Amino acid sequence: MPSVAVYPGSFDPVTNGHLDIIERSARVFDKVVVAVLHNRNKVPLFSVEERVQLLSESIAHIPNTEVDAFNGLLIDYIKEKNANTIVRGLRAVSDFEYEMQAASINRKLDPSIETFFMMTNNQYSYLSSSIIKEVAKYEADVKDLVPPVVEKALMNKFHAPS
Ligand code: ADP
Repeated sequence: MPSVAVYPGSFDPVTNGHLDIIERSARVFDKVVVAVLHNRNKVPLFSVEERVQLLSESIAHIPNTEVDAFNGLLIDYIKEKNANTIVRGLRAVSDFEYEMQAASINRKLDPSIETFFMMTNNQYSYLSSSIIKEVAKYEADVKDLVPPVVEKALMNKFHAPS
């Protein structure tokens, strides 16, 4: 049976830290589905459609990946995709508590599905979508931190001439 992993997240927007996790997990699993979560309490900067589009363009060079969006319970979505693994990235100790809780509840809901953690590449350990949005607002240079399509999309969101 091919190994199919789902990498879920908000990806609002995708950063080079996410890309690094996607590239590395695509070397481990036969297929990686990058799944944009609808339905968050936070108000997103980019719509789900925009986030899916930015991800699709950013990972077009990695053949065994797919981008999708989902609603509802992650475990149900995993089964729908015939996947058996959840991929999550860990940056700092601060990520650990939430991730441990999420992995535990998911294991309780379905013990056959494993959560696979990947440590961030050191150069991206400080990188988050929120920090990118914060600095892009003030026209800071985010070129080395996000894919070029995201840099352009951020410019359009914050600095498009009216
Ligand atoms: P969520 O809102 O689900 O945390 P994010 O889009 O912020 O969604 O992150 C999705 C996943 O990617 C999470 O597992 C997060 O820890 C991981 N991640 C985010 N940024 C980085 C990074 N710079 N390096 C490694 N993993 C990261």
